Amino acid sequence: MLQIDLGHVVKHVSLLGSTGTIGVNTLDVISRHPDSFQLFAVTAHSNVERLAEQCGRFNPRYAVLCDEQKIEACQQVFRRRNISTELLFGSEGLQRIASDPRVDIVMAAIVGAAGLKPTLAAARAGKRVLLANKEALVMSGKLLMDAVREHDAELLPIDSEHNAIFQSLPVNFSQGLLQAGVKRIILTASGGPFRNMKQPDLESVTPAQAVKHPNWVMGKKISVDSATMMNKGLEMIEACWLFDATPDQVEILIHPESIVHSMVRYRDGSVIAQLSNPDMRIPIAYGLGYPARMDTGVADLDLAAIGKLNFAALNDDQFPCVNLAYQAMATGGTATAILNGANEVAVDSFLKEALPFRSIPAVIEFALREIAAVPVRELDDVLRADQAARAAAADWIKTHTRASIPLGVST
Ligand code: NAD
Ligand code: MG
Repeated sequence: MLQIDLGHVVKHVSLLGSTGTIGVNTLDVISRHPDSFQLFAVTAHSNVERLAEQCGRFNPRYAVLCDEQKIEACQQVFRRRNISTELLFGSEGLQRIASDPRVDIVMAAIVGAAGLKPTLAAARAGKRVLLANKEALVMSGKLLMDAVREHDAELLPIDSEHNAIFQSLPVNFSQGLLQAGVKRIILTASGGPFRNMKQPDLESVTPAQAVKHPNWVMGKKISVDSATMMNKGLEMIEACWLFDATPDQVEILIHPESIVHSMVRYRDGSVIAQLSNPDMRIPIAYGLGYPARMDTGVADLDLAAIGKLNFAALNDDQFPCVNLAYQAMATGGTATAILNGANEVAVDSFLKEALPFRSIPAVIEFALREIAAVPVRELDDVLRADQAARAAAADWIKTHTRASIPLGVST
Protein backbone atom coordinates (compact mmCIF):
# COMPACT_ATOMS: atom_id res chain seq x y z
CA MET A 1 0.00 0.00 0.00
CA LEU A 2 1.18 3.53 -0.78
CA GLN A 3 2.43 5.21 2.39
CA ILE A 4 1.89 8.93 2.86
CA ASP A 5 4.85 11.24 3.24
CA LEU A 6 4.72 12.74 6.72
CA GLY A 7 8.40 13.64 6.63
CA HIS A 8 9.15 10.07 7.82
CA VAL A 9 8.45 11.10 11.39
CA VAL A 10 6.30 8.58 13.22
CA LYS A 11 3.52 10.31 15.14
CA HIS A 12 2.59 8.98 18.57
CA VAL A 13 -1.14 8.78 19.19
CA SER A 14 -3.13 8.64 22.43
CA LEU A 15 -6.57 7.28 21.67
CA LEU A 16 -9.16 8.28 24.27
CA GLY A 17 -12.20 6.00 24.01
CA SER A 18 -10.44 3.29 21.96
CA THR A 19 -13.14 0.69 22.67
CA GLY A 20 -15.94 2.79 21.13
CA THR A 21 -17.06 3.15 17.53
CA ILE A 22 -14.75 6.07 16.74
CA GLY A 23 -11.93 4.35 18.65
CA VAL A 24 -12.22 1.15 16.62
CA ASN A 25 -12.37 3.11 13.34
CA THR A 26 -9.27 5.07 14.38
CA LEU A 27 -7.38 1.83 15.01
CA ASP A 28 -8.42 0.62 11.56
CA VAL A 29 -6.89 3.74 9.95
CA ILE A 30 -3.73 3.54 12.09
CA SER A 31 -3.26 -0.13 11.22
CA ARG A 32 -3.17 0.84 7.50
CA HIS A 33 -0.27 3.25 8.09
CA PRO A 34 2.15 1.58 10.50
CA ASP A 35 5.11 3.65 9.26
CA SER A 36 3.34 6.91 10.03
CA PHE A 37 1.56 6.32 13.35
CA GLN A 38 2.36 4.49 16.54
CA LEU A 39 -0.21 3.92 19.23
CA PHE A 40 0.98 5.36 22.55
CA ALA A 41 -2.13 4.75 24.70
CA VAL A 42 -5.64 3.31 24.58
CA THR A 43 -8.49 3.86 27.06
CA ALA A 44 -11.78 2.24 28.01
CA HIS A 45 -14.53 2.81 30.50
CA SER A 46 -15.25 -0.85 31.28
CA ASN A 47 -14.73 -3.08 28.25
CA VAL A 48 -11.74 -5.00 29.62
CA GLU A 49 -11.80 -7.70 26.93
CA ARG A 50 -11.63 -5.25 24.05
CA LEU A 51 -8.98 -3.15 25.79
CA ALA A 52 -6.80 -6.24 26.31
CA GLU A 53 -7.35 -7.36 22.72
CA GLN A 54 -6.28 -3.90 21.44
CA CYS A 55 -3.15 -3.98 23.63
CA GLY A 56 -2.27 -7.45 22.39
CA ARG A 57 -2.59 -6.27 18.80
CA PHE A 58 -0.99 -2.80 18.92
CA ASN A 59 1.28 -3.03 21.97
CA PRO A 60 0.78 0.57 23.18
CA ARG A 61 2.87 1.93 26.07
CA TYR A 62 -0.19 2.57 28.30
CA ALA A 63 -3.81 1.50 28.71
CA VAL A 64 -6.24 3.38 30.95
CA LEU A 65 -9.30 1.80 32.54
CA CYS A 66 -11.90 4.11 34.12
CA ASP A 67 -14.48 1.84 35.76
CA GLU A 68 -13.22 1.23 39.33
CA GLN A 69 -15.28 -1.96 39.64
CA LYS A 70 -13.26 -3.56 36.84
CA ILE A 71 -9.70 -2.81 38.00
CA GLU A 72 -8.98 -6.23 39.44
CA ALA A 73 -10.55 -8.12 36.57
CA CYS A 74 -8.52 -6.01 34.14
CA GLN A 75 -5.23 -6.67 35.95
CA GLN A 76 -5.98 -10.40 35.86
CA VAL A 77 -6.77 -10.43 32.14
CA PHE A 78 -3.59 -8.48 31.35
CA ARG A 79 -1.47 -10.86 33.47
CA ARG A 80 -3.10 -13.96 32.02
CA ARG A 81 -2.45 -12.79 28.47
CA ASN A 82 1.11 -11.61 29.20
CA ILE A 83 0.32 -8.09 28.03
CA SER A 84 3.24 -5.76 28.68
CA THR A 85 1.23 -2.52 28.29
CA GLU A 86 1.28 -0.57 31.58
CA LEU A 87 -2.17 -0.13 33.15
CA LEU A 88 -3.28 3.26 34.52
CA PHE A 89 -6.64 4.06 36.06
CA GLY A 90 -9.35 6.72 36.17
CA SER A 91 -9.42 10.39 35.32
CA GLU A 92 -5.78 10.91 36.35
CA GLY A 93 -4.64 8.20 33.97
CA LEU A 94 -6.62 9.80 31.13
CA GLN A 95 -5.13 13.21 31.76
CA ARG A 96 -1.63 11.76 31.97
CA ILE A 97 -1.74 10.02 28.59
CA ALA A 98 -3.48 13.05 27.00
CA SER A 99 -0.66 15.38 28.00
CA ASP A 100 2.44 13.12 27.97
CA PRO A 101 5.32 14.94 26.22
CA ARG A 102 5.96 11.90 24.01
CA VAL A 103 2.50 12.22 22.42
CA ASP A 104 1.88 14.16 19.18
CA ILE A 105 -1.81 13.48 18.51
CA VAL A 106 -4.72 12.93 20.89
CA MET A 107 -7.94 11.49 19.52
CA ALA A 108 -10.74 12.66 21.86
CA ALA A 109 -13.35 9.95 21.35
CA ILE A 110 -14.79 9.41 24.83
CA VAL A 111 -18.54 9.99 24.80
CA GLY A 112 -20.11 12.71 26.94
CA ALA A 113 -18.93 14.90 29.79
CA ALA A 114 -16.32 12.31 30.87
CA GLY A 115 -14.25 13.39 27.85
CA LEU A 116 -13.97 17.03 28.87
CA LYS A 117 -11.00 16.99 31.28
CA PRO A 118 -8.63 14.86 29.18
CA THR A 119 -9.52 16.86 26.05
CA LEU A 120 -8.72 20.09 27.89
CA ALA A 121 -5.50 18.53 29.19
CA ALA A 122 -4.46 17.65 25.61
CA ALA A 123 -5.17 21.21 24.42
CA ARG A 124 -3.24 22.68 27.36
CA ALA A 125 -0.29 20.43 26.49
CA GLY A 126 -0.28 21.88 22.94
CA LYS A 127 -1.22 18.65 21.15
CA ARG A 128 -2.91 18.08 17.83
CA VAL A 129 -6.38 17.29 19.18
CA LEU A 130 -8.76 15.34 16.97
CA LEU A 131 -12.16 16.19 18.38
CA ALA A 132 -14.93 13.59 18.13
CA ASN A 133 -16.16 14.29 21.68
CA LYS A 134 -18.50 17.15 20.73
CA GLU A 135 -19.85 17.34 24.30
CA ALA A 136 -16.52 18.87 25.42
CA LEU A 137 -17.06 21.87 23.13
CA VAL A 138 -20.76 22.13 23.95
CA MET A 139 -20.05 22.20 27.69
CA SER A 140 -16.97 24.27 27.63
CA GLY A 141 -16.38 25.85 24.22
CA LYS A 142 -14.81 28.99 25.61
CA LEU A 143 -12.29 27.20 27.84
CA LEU A 144 -11.33 24.70 25.16
CA MET A 145 -10.88 27.30 22.41
CA ASP A 146 -8.90 29.55 24.81
CA ALA A 147 -6.66 26.60 25.74
CA VAL A 148 -6.04 25.81 22.06
CA ARG A 149 -5.01 29.42 21.35
CA GLU A 150 -2.93 29.92 24.48
CA HIS A 151 -1.01 26.65 24.20
CA ASP A 152 -0.60 26.60 20.44
CA ALA A 153 -2.56 23.38 20.12
CA GLU A 154 -4.29 22.30 16.92
CA LEU A 155 -8.00 21.40 17.06
CA LEU A 156 -9.23 19.39 14.07
CA PRO A 157 -12.90 18.37 13.86
CA ILE A 158 -13.70 14.67 13.44
CA ASP A 159 -17.49 14.99 13.53
CA SER A 160 -18.26 14.32 9.85
CA GLU A 161 -20.19 17.58 9.34
CA HIS A 162 -17.51 19.77 10.90
CA ASN A 163 -14.78 17.93 9.10
CA ALA A 164 -16.68 18.58 5.84
CA ILE A 165 -17.05 22.27 6.73
CA PHE A 166 -13.35 22.46 7.59
CA GLN A 167 -12.53 20.95 4.19
CA SER A 168 -14.89 23.40 2.43
CA LEU A 169 -13.79 26.62 4.16
CA PRO A 170 -11.07 28.88 2.74
CA VAL A 171 -7.65 28.59 4.45
CA ASN A 172 -7.99 32.08 5.95
CA PHE A 173 -11.35 31.39 7.68
CA SER A 174 -9.90 32.01 11.15
CA GLN A 175 -9.58 35.72 10.29
CA GLY A 176 -13.40 35.84 10.37
CA LEU A 177 -16.07 34.16 8.26
CA LEU A 178 -17.41 37.40 6.72
CA GLN A 179 -13.92 38.57 5.89
CA ALA A 180 -13.26 35.23 4.17
CA GLY A 181 -16.38 35.68 2.00
CA VAL A 182 -18.45 33.07 3.87
CA LYS A 183 -22.16 33.77 4.26
CA ARG A 184 -23.42 30.66 6.02
CA ILE A 185 -22.47 27.19 7.14
CA ILE A 186 -24.97 24.54 6.01
CA LEU A 187 -25.07 21.63 8.43
CA THR A 188 -26.67 18.57 6.84
CA ALA A 189 -28.77 16.19 8.94
CA SER A 190 -30.04 12.74 8.00
CA GLY A 191 -33.10 13.29 10.21
CA GLY A 192 -32.38 10.02 12.04
CA PRO A 193 -34.60 6.95 12.15
CA PHE A 194 -37.82 8.87 12.99
CA ARG A 195 -37.64 11.54 10.30
CA ASN A 196 -41.02 10.58 8.86
CA MET A 197 -42.81 9.85 12.14
CA LYS A 198 -45.55 12.06 13.56
CA GLN A 199 -45.26 13.28 17.19
CA PRO A 200 -47.91 10.92 18.69
CA ASP A 201 -46.21 7.86 17.15
CA LEU A 202 -42.97 8.77 18.95
CA GLU A 203 -44.65 7.95 22.29
CA SER A 204 -44.03 4.22 21.97
CA VAL A 205 -40.55 4.32 20.43
CA THR A 206 -38.12 1.83 22.04
CA PRO A 207 -34.35 2.15 22.65
CA ALA A 208 -33.73 -0.61 20.08
CA GLN A 209 -35.56 1.43 17.40
CA ALA A 210 -33.85 4.67 18.40
CA VAL A 211 -30.29 3.34 18.16
CA LYS A 212 -30.85 1.95 14.66
CA HIS A 213 -29.52 4.81 12.55
CA PRO A 214 -30.31 4.56 8.82
CA ASN A 215 -26.77 5.44 7.58
CA TRP A 216 -24.22 5.26 10.41
CA VAL A 217 -23.14 2.68 13.00
CA MET A 218 -22.49 4.70 16.17
CA GLY A 219 -22.44 4.48 19.96
CA LYS A 220 -25.82 4.37 21.72
CA LYS A 221 -25.77 7.90 23.13
CA ILE A 222 -25.07 9.67 19.82
CA SER A 223 -27.59 7.37 18.09
CA VAL A 224 -30.35 8.51 20.46
CA ASP A 225 -29.17 12.12 20.00
CA SER A 226 -29.59 11.60 16.24
CA ALA A 227 -33.11 10.26 16.76
CA THR A 228 -34.16 13.31 18.87
CA MET A 229 -32.01 15.53 16.60
CA MET A 230 -30.31 16.92 19.70
CA ASN A 231 -27.21 15.75 17.84
CA LYS A 232 -27.80 18.51 15.27
CA GLY A 233 -28.37 21.01 18.09
CA LEU A 234 -25.06 19.98 19.69
CA GLU A 235 -23.41 20.20 16.27
CA MET A 236 -24.74 23.72 15.71
CA ILE A 237 -23.08 24.75 19.00
CA GLU A 238 -19.92 22.86 18.02
CA ALA A 239 -19.83 24.72 14.67
CA CYS A 240 -20.21 28.10 16.38
CA TRP A 241 -17.15 27.46 18.55
CA LEU A 242 -14.97 25.77 15.93
CA PHE A 243 -15.54 28.32 13.18
CA ASP A 244 -16.32 31.42 15.27
CA ALA A 245 -19.84 31.58 13.81
CA THR A 246 -23.03 32.99 15.30
CA PRO A 247 -26.03 30.61 15.53
CA ASP A 248 -27.78 32.48 12.70
CA GLN A 249 -24.78 31.77 10.46
CA VAL A 250 -25.54 28.03 10.81
CA GLU A 251 -28.35 26.58 8.69
CA ILE A 252 -29.65 23.03 9.15
CA LEU A 253 -30.69 21.10 6.05
CA ILE A 254 -32.24 17.62 5.99
CA HIS A 255 -30.37 15.25 3.68
CA PRO A 256 -31.49 11.65 4.32
CA GLU A 257 -28.69 9.88 2.37
CA SER A 258 -25.74 11.28 4.43
CA ILE A 259 -23.56 11.67 1.32
CA VAL A 260 -23.13 15.46 1.40
CA HIS A 261 -21.58 15.83 4.86
CA SER A 262 -22.04 19.62 5.05
CA MET A 263 -21.50 22.74 2.94
CA VAL A 264 -20.29 26.33 3.00
CA ARG A 265 -22.32 29.07 1.32
CA TYR A 266 -20.21 31.96 -0.01
CA ARG A 267 -21.25 35.57 -0.63
CA ASP A 268 -20.85 35.20 -4.43
CA GLY A 269 -23.53 32.49 -4.60
CA SER A 270 -21.13 29.53 -4.61
CA VAL A 271 -21.74 26.57 -2.33
CA ILE A 272 -18.83 24.22 -1.61
CA ALA A 273 -19.51 20.78 -0.15
CA GLN A 274 -17.63 17.63 0.82
CA LEU A 275 -19.16 14.32 -0.30
CA SER A 276 -18.26 10.72 0.49
CA ASN A 277 -19.76 7.41 1.48
CA PRO A 278 -20.78 7.66 5.15
CA ASP A 279 -17.72 6.19 6.86
CA MET A 280 -15.98 7.82 9.83
CA ARG A 281 -12.58 6.58 8.68
CA ILE A 282 -12.52 9.48 6.20
CA PRO A 283 -12.67 12.35 8.75
CA ILE A 284 -10.44 10.36 11.12
CA ALA A 285 -7.75 9.88 8.43
CA TYR A 286 -8.07 13.54 7.43
CA GLY A 287 -7.36 14.60 11.01
CA LEU A 288 -4.49 12.16 11.53
CA GLY A 289 -2.71 13.01 8.30
CA TYR A 290 -3.66 16.69 7.83
CA PRO A 291 -2.73 18.28 5.51
CA ALA A 292 -1.77 15.02 3.75
CA ARG A 293 -4.52 12.73 2.47
CA MET A 294 -4.23 9.02 3.18
CA ASP A 295 -5.78 5.74 2.08
CA THR A 296 -8.71 4.77 4.28
CA GLY A 297 -10.08 1.57 2.79
CA VAL A 298 -13.39 3.35 2.05
CA ALA A 299 -14.97 2.51 -1.32
CA ASP A 300 -15.05 5.24 -3.98
CA LEU A 301 -18.26 7.24 -4.02
CA ASP A 302 -20.36 6.06 -6.96
CA LEU A 303 -22.80 8.90 -7.65
CA ALA A 304 -24.12 7.26 -10.80
CA ALA A 305 -25.17 4.23 -8.73
CA ILE A 306 -26.73 6.47 -6.05
CA GLY A 307 -28.52 8.43 -8.78
CA LYS A 308 -30.40 10.89 -6.63
CA LEU A 309 -29.72 12.96 -3.51
CA ASN A 310 -32.58 14.52 -1.54
CA PHE A 311 -32.75 17.69 0.54
CA ALA A 312 -35.56 19.19 2.63
CA ALA A 313 -36.08 21.99 5.14
CA LEU A 314 -36.03 21.04 8.82
CA ASN A 315 -39.44 20.93 10.53
CA ASP A 316 -38.36 22.03 13.98
CA ASP A 317 -41.81 21.44 15.54
CA GLN A 318 -41.07 17.76 15.01
CA PHE A 319 -37.70 17.97 16.80
CA PRO A 320 -37.92 20.36 19.80
CA CYS A 321 -34.35 19.53 20.90
CA VAL A 322 -32.94 21.61 18.05
CA ASN A 323 -34.72 24.73 19.34
CA LEU A 324 -33.54 24.03 22.89
CA ALA A 325 -29.95 24.02 21.61
CA TYR A 326 -30.44 27.36 19.80
CA GLN A 327 -32.03 28.75 22.97
CA ALA A 328 -29.10 27.61 25.16
CA MET A 329 -26.55 29.03 22.71
CA ALA A 330 -28.38 32.37 22.68
CA THR A 331 -28.37 32.44 26.52
CA GLY A 332 -24.64 31.69 26.54
CA GLY A 333 -22.36 31.06 29.57
CA THR A 334 -23.11 27.75 31.26
CA ALA A 335 -26.49 27.28 29.49
CA THR A 336 -25.01 24.86 26.97
CA ALA A 337 -23.41 22.81 29.79
CA ILE A 338 -26.88 22.64 31.40
CA LEU A 339 -28.38 21.54 28.07
CA ASN A 340 -25.71 18.85 27.71
CA GLY A 341 -25.88 17.51 31.30
CA ALA A 342 -29.69 17.25 31.25
CA ASN A 343 -29.58 15.59 27.84
CA GLU A 344 -27.05 12.97 29.01
CA VAL A 345 -29.26 12.02 31.98
CA ALA A 346 -32.41 11.96 29.83
CA VAL A 347 -30.78 9.78 27.14
CA ASP A 348 -29.33 7.42 29.73
CA SER A 349 -32.78 7.06 31.36
CA PHE A 350 -34.42 6.46 27.99
CA LEU A 351 -31.86 3.75 27.18
CA LYS A 352 -32.67 2.12 30.54
CA GLU A 353 -36.38 2.28 29.65
CA ALA A 354 -37.01 4.63 32.56
CA LEU A 355 -38.14 7.60 30.43
CA PRO A 356 -40.32 7.74 27.30
CA PHE A 357 -38.58 9.02 24.16
CA ARG A 358 -40.95 11.98 23.82
CA SER A 359 -40.11 13.24 27.32
CA ILE A 360 -36.41 13.80 26.56
CA PRO A 361 -36.94 17.45 25.48
CA ALA A 362 -39.20 18.13 28.50
CA VAL A 363 -36.38 17.07 30.85
CA ILE A 364 -33.89 19.39 29.13
CA GLU A 365 -36.34 22.30 29.00
CA PHE A 366 -36.95 21.91 32.74
CA ALA A 367 -33.23 21.99 33.56
CA LEU A 368 -32.69 25.08 31.38
CA ARG A 369 -35.59 26.81 33.17
CA GLU A 370 -34.63 25.75 36.70
CA ILE A 371 -30.91 26.56 36.65
CA ALA A 372 -29.61 30.06 36.03
CA ALA A 373 -26.77 30.22 33.53
CA VAL A 374 -23.63 32.08 34.64
CA PRO A 375 -20.59 33.23 32.65
CA VAL A 376 -17.82 30.64 32.19
CA ARG A 377 -14.63 31.83 33.90
CA GLU A 378 -13.11 28.51 34.93
CA LEU A 379 -13.71 24.79 34.68
CA ASP A 380 -15.54 24.69 38.02
CA ASP A 381 -18.29 26.95 36.60
CA VAL A 382 -18.91 24.32 33.91
CA LEU A 383 -18.70 21.34 36.26
CA ARG A 384 -21.13 22.96 38.76
CA ALA A 385 -23.63 23.66 35.95
CA ASP A 386 -23.26 20.08 34.72
CA GLN A 387 -23.96 18.64 38.19
CA ALA A 388 -26.93 20.97 38.78
CA ALA A 389 -28.39 20.02 35.40
CA ARG A 390 -28.01 16.30 36.16
CA ALA A 391 -29.72 16.74 39.53
CA ALA A 392 -32.59 18.77 38.01
CA ALA A 393 -33.04 16.23 35.20
CA ALA A 394 -33.09 13.34 37.68
CA ASP A 395 -35.68 15.20 39.79
CA TRP A 396 -37.93 15.73 36.79
CA ILE A 397 -37.69 12.08 35.82
CA LYS A 398 -38.33 10.87 39.36
CA THR A 399 -41.37 13.11 39.76
CA HIS A 400 -42.87 12.22 36.39
CA THR A 401 -42.00 8.52 36.16
CA ARG A 402 -41.32 7.39 39.76
CA ALA A 403 -38.01 5.95 38.54
CA SER A 404 -34.79 6.22 40.49
CA ILE A 405 -32.17 7.73 38.19
CA PRO A 406 -28.38 7.60 38.54
CA LEU A 407 -26.65 10.88 37.67
CA GLY A 408 -23.86 9.46 35.56
CA VAL A 409 -23.68 8.11 32.05
CA SER A 410 -22.65 4.48 32.04
CA THR A 411 -21.14 3.17 28.85
P1 NAD B 1 -19.19 4.79 21.93
O1 NAD B 1 -20.26 4.70 22.96
O2 NAD B 1 -19.14 3.76 20.86
O3 NAD B 1 -17.75 4.82 22.65
C1 NAD B 1 -17.53 5.65 23.73
C2 NAD B 1 -16.12 5.45 24.29
O4 NAD B 1 -16.00 6.28 25.47
C3 NAD B 1 -15.82 4.02 24.72
O5 NAD B 1 -14.47 3.73 24.49
C4 NAD B 1 -16.09 4.05 26.22
O6 NAD B 1 -15.35 3.08 26.94
C5 NAD B 1 -15.64 5.46 26.58
N1 NAD B 1 -16.32 5.97 27.78
C6 NAD B 1 -17.65 6.06 27.99
N2 NAD B 1 -17.92 6.57 29.21
C7 NAD B 1 -16.73 6.81 29.79
C8 NAD B 1 -16.33 7.31 31.05
N3 NAD B 1 -17.23 7.66 31.99
N4 NAD B 1 -15.01 7.44 31.30
C9 NAD B 1 -14.09 7.08 30.38
N5 NAD B 1 -14.40 6.58 29.17
C10 NAD B 1 -15.70 6.45 28.87
O7 NAD B 1 -19.32 6.24 21.28
P2 NAD B 1 -18.86 6.73 19.83
O8 NAD B 1 -19.97 6.55 18.87
O9 NAD B 1 -17.52 6.18 19.50
O10 NAD B 1 -18.74 8.30 20.07
C11 NAD B 1 -17.64 8.88 20.77
C12 NAD B 1 -17.73 10.39 20.67
O11 NAD B 1 -17.60 10.75 19.28
C13 NAD B 1 -19.07 10.97 21.12
O12 NAD B 1 -18.86 12.20 21.72
C14 NAD B 1 -19.85 11.16 19.81
O13 NAD B 1 -20.78 12.22 19.88
C15 NAD B 1 -18.72 11.51 18.86
N6 NAD B 1 -19.01 11.19 17.46
C16 NAD B 1 -19.24 9.89 17.08
C17 NAD B 1 -19.53 9.60 15.75
C18 NAD B 1 -19.75 8.18 15.31
O14 NAD B 1 -19.95 7.95 14.10
N7 NAD B 1 -19.74 7.18 16.18
C19 NAD B 1 -19.62 10.61 14.82
C20 NAD B 1 -19.38 11.93 15.24
C21 NAD B 1 -19.06 12.20 16.56
MG1 MG C 1 -22.03 14.42 13.10
